[in-house]
Amino acid sequence: MRLANHDGRATIVIEGRAVDVERASGGGLGSDPMLLSDLANHAVLRDLAAAAKPADWPALEEARIGPPVPRAGKGLGVALNYRKHAAETGRPAPDEPALFGKTDNCVCGPFDPILLPDGRDQVDYEAELVIVFGRTAKRVAAAEAWSYLAGVTVGQDISDRAEQNRPPVRQFTIAKSYDTFGPIGPCLVTVDELDEPDALSIECIVSGEVLQSSNTADLIFDVPALVEWVTRYLTFEPGDLLWTGTPEGVGAARSPQRFLRVGDVVETVIGGVGTMRNPIIAG
Ligand code: ZN
Repeated sequence: MRLANHDGRATIVIEGRAVDVERASGGGLGSDPMLLSDLANHAVLRDLAAAAKPADWPALEEARIGPPVPRAGKGLGVALNYRKHAAETGRPAPDEPALFGKTDNCVCGPFDPILLPDGRDQVDYEAELVIVFGRTAKRVAAAEAWSYLAGVTVGQDISDRAEQNRPPVRQFTIAKSYDTFGPIGPCLVTVDELDEPDALSIECIVSGEVLQSSNTADLIFDVPALVEWVTRYLTFEPGDLLWTGTPEGVGAARSPQRFLRVGDVVETVIGGVGTMRNPIIAG
């Protein structure tokens, strides 16, 4: 299934049409998009999808799509999790995942503007696969990891490098959590939709130039390994997000460096999952 937040309402996307969950279920399920992240609702959603006649429903419109998980209980990101990205930063590949917080205020929709604060001139892009937990997860074995996920979505881990690397203590969480620094979407895509969930193409295109082009098969800690590691210590709940890291090609590591400017358009593409397009505006 492809699940979306259309006009702020839980929606199943079928053939480009927006099937409203509350109306299709006759009120059996509500309208809050957060219900899409709860695997307890997926059997009913599948029944609704099977019964829906797409022609009866309006077209899905980009301008009306919000983040598929608008109020995550928590969000964590993984630093240096692609082999070639670790290499381009000049740092050794980590032995264990290195995590930071990505707070809920930063989450915005897949076609929303990203606000570039005045005077910040080292703001960077990071295309990422974002996984969405679908049931309570504690001490999950890697082999079971995918079954704990409501699905995956596309994300951009926008990062202010000047703040992230400001001495004496590096500030990953703040530098990656400014308002609008975490667009996700357009859909929450259930795992069964993916032919090879551990090998998804991932790209970032800024104002028409392909700056990142990789595959999640280059992850140092893949999705099962990450889920096993993070749930050793923390309980994850439906709707919690994990940003799995970005591949090589970030602006800070390029020569010359390429940071985001007002007027840029950031496209983030994951094969089989979707495409986001976010303009950079002053803010
Ligand atoms: Zn990142």
